[in-house]
Order: sequence, then C-alpha cells, then structure tokens
Amino acid sequence: MNQKVTIYGAGFSGLTSAYYFLKSGYAIEVVESLERAGGLIETTKTQWGLAESAANGLIVSDKVLEVFKDIGLEFLKPSAHSKKRYIFRDGPGRWPMGLFETAKLAFHFLKCKNRKPHLGESIHVWGNRVLGAMPTKYLLEPALQGIYAGDPQRLSASLILSRFFNKKAGKKSGKFVIAPKEGMGALTHSLKNYLEKNGVKFRFQENCTEVVKNDHLQILCVPAYVARQMLSGHGSGISGVLSEIEYVPLVSATLFYPKYTTPLEGFGCLFPRDQKIRALGVLFNDQIFERESDFHSETWIMGGVGDPQVISYSDNEVIDAIDKDRAQLSFGKVKSSGYKMTRWPLAIPHYTLDLEKILNSNFQKNINDDGIYLFGNYLGSLGLSQIIEAASNFTLLVQNGK
Ligand SMILES: Cc1cc2nc3c(=O)[nH]c(=O)nc-3n(C[C@H](O)[C@H](O)[C@H](O)COP(=O)(O)OP(=O)(O)OC[C@H]3O[C@@H](n4cnc5c(N)ncnc54)[C@H](O)[C@@H]3O)c2cc1C
Repeated sequence: MNQKVTIYGAGFSGLTSAYYFLKSGYAIEVVESLERAGGLIETTKTQWGLAESAANGLIVSDKVLEVFKDIGLEFLKPSAHSKKRYIFRDGPGRWPMGLFETAKLAFHFLKCKNRKPHLGESIHVWGNRVLGAMPTKYLLEPALQGIYAGDPQRLSASLILSRFFNKKAGKKSGKFVIAPKEGMGALTHSLKNYLEKNGVKFRFQENCTEVVKNDHLQILCVPAYVARQMLSGHGSGISGVLSEIEYVPLVSATLFYPKYTTPLEGFGCLFPRDQKIRALGVLFNDQIFERESDFHSETWIMGGVGDPQVISYSDNEVIDAIDKDRAQLSFGKVKSSGYKMTRWPLAIPHYTLDLEKILNSNFQKNINDDGIYLFGNYLGSLGLSQIIEAASNFTLLVQNGK
C-alpha cells in the first residue's frame, strides 16, 4: 500500500507539495480550513476586468512550464508594452540614476571582490557594500520593497539574494512572468482539479487546531502563525520558534480606469522611500497581460512594515492615498470606474535577519523525527516559482528521510 500523507493547507505550498508527493506515489489527503483551494491566491472577475488578491503572475522556469503542461493549463506571456519598467525619482524614469552615479555604481561593483551576501548582513548593508549608497536607495531597496515589503535594515541579504549567486539555481529561473488567461485563480483551480482527478482527497472547511504524531506523514503547509498553534502541544519548543516569525501587512488595490486615460506604457513603477509616494509599487495589469477589457487596470501595493496603518483604512481612505500618489506621478485626475481591494493583515513573512537565524538552525529536527514537516513561504521561498522549486526538492528530502 502507498504511504499516506496528510497535507494541512491548500494554498500554493500545499497544492504544489501534494503535486510532487503524488508524483512520488504517495496516497494524499489535503485538509483546508476554507471552502476553496488557493490560499492568498484568488482571482475575481469584475465587470471591468480581472482583479487578483495577491500574486498576478509567476516567474517562468523549466519546473513552472512542466507543471503548466502537466495540468493542461495555457498561459499568457507578457505583452511587448510591458518591457518598460519604471522607478520614480522626481518622476517616473527607466533608470533612476545619472551618468556619474551609474559610472560610480559600475566602479563600486567591479571593485567589490566578495559580492556574495554574508550571514547576518542586511539588504541595506549588502547594497552599500556591493553597489554603493545611491543604487541601494534608488534600485535595490525599491525593487525588493515591491516584493518583500520589509525593512531594508532588517531584511536578510543572504535569504533574499543567495540564490542569484548559486549558478545552478540561477540558470533555472527565467526573466519574465506568466499567468493563465483567466487569472491566477485558474492556476490553483487547475492544480486542485488535477490532484483530485489523480486520487488526492480534499477535505474543505476543516480547521485543524492540533497535529500529533501518528502512523503517516503530516505536512503543515499553513502560515507560521498557524503552524505555531497546531504544534503548541508538541513539547519540542518549535511553537516558540515559529512565534518569532513576523508577518508584514499589505493592501492590494486594483483600480480600473477608462482605457484612453492610460497614463504610462509599461509593466509598472517602484517608489524609493524618499520620494513622498506612499505606495510600495504599482502594476499596469492590462499592459502586462493582454486580456479582453475596455479598462486600464492598476494594482497598487500599499502597507508593508513601514506603513502598517493602511490596513485599517476604509476603502475611501486607501483610494484617497492612491489618488495622491497618482497626482505625484502626474497621472491626471481621473476617477476610477471601479475597484477591488484586498487587505492582508498578515500577508507575507518578513524576511529578516532573525528569520535567517531560525532557518539556519536545525529547528525542525524534533518534529521531523515524528513524521511531521513544515513547508511554506516563510522557509526561504516566497515567490510562486521558488515555491514550485522548493516543493520538488522538499518532497525528495522527505522521501529520503532527511
Ligand atoms: C499582495 C501579494 C502579492 C503577491 N504577488 C506575487 C507575485 O506577483 N508573484 C509571486 O510569485 N508571488 C507573489 N506573492 C507571494 C505568493 O502569493 C505567496 O507566497 C503564496 O501564495 C503563499 O502560498 P502558501 O501556500 O505558502 O500560503 P497561503 O496562501 O497563506 O496558504 C495557506 C493555506 O492554509 C490554510 N489554513 C490556514 N489555517 C489552517 C488550518 N488551521 N487548517 C487547515 N488549513 C489552514 C489557508 O486557508 C490557506 O489556504 C504575493 C503575495 C501577496 C500577499
């Protein structure tokens, strides 16, 4: 008989680990507290176009393409309009530094012999050491704030950047994002259908509160703050370790405008913190992926560790803040035709130096000995493409009893 695995959580981590355990011949049951799969990922079809609650696409890689092919899902590539990406410095521009600053960056970079992030080195310190002060402020920190929404003085360079120094891993990931035509919800929906069709059993609307050792493998694919509760009776101290993992609040607001008012052609814009723009970044959805809609669509990401109060704002207050940012960008005063807003008080893990220390300790050993494993976006892989890669490696490690 096949070995049995119970997976708690049907977010992207739970679905992808179920996918790879299935490939290895396990009998799988997935337990999910909500009535649907996908976790953070959900696509809403509004009368103006699609709105994503979290991820709007994933970076292409061989593994990502393999999964799409296997589950029979087609995808859109980014359109030619999205080639332009902007960073705001006294206005949106393709490159936020002058000639002299760029030459200084090249000099600084070439002079630095040891570019690999050190353990205990923050993004801010790494940037200043390897790139110099201005590129750190106007390139590195805005780019990472658009993904990690954290504090650059506390973000771990080693957790975030090490993969770029690993030649093998570097080759595996691509440079562009893809998404299903029907939105990211179609990805989690198709994954779930594929798993079900191949014998994976789903139990929805079951809120698991405790996990104890039993005769089969148990994988906790829930956020760290939920895993902490589930393991509070374990007695190994792991619950205390998990409670130290911080989460970052985010608001994702998608606003639709008449197409003829489209202010800029491109993928989106990032905002260095000294530019008096409140948002962390904005995406021009209709220019990234061409879908049928008469509307220009922008997703504004607000909040993060530097601006947690946004999470408690009313819809109108968030829209006011976006209108002010749009005015700074000289986007013209246009009223949106409609919007969809999602608030995530505990959106994503804060990739801090403290998290780096936790992940470099053998903190899971005692639960692993009991056949209980953790998998999720707080364990070093935040983006969906990275989660697919990690799920594939993780399944092999569990199989080999590591
Ligand atoms: C605003 C935003 C934008 C993003 N944009 C991108 C992007 O463009 N590209 C990209 O690659 N990544 C992006 N990400 C990151 C990516 O979406 C996440 O890292 C990923 O979806 C996390 O998946 P997960 O399964 O680890 O966690 P979750 O999605 O949180 O899944 C956890 C699951 O566990 C379930 N659960 C919780 N408690 C219990 C319980 N007691 N019992 C059973 N089940 C339980 C939950 O209901 C949920 O389904 C974004 C994230 C956010 C918030």
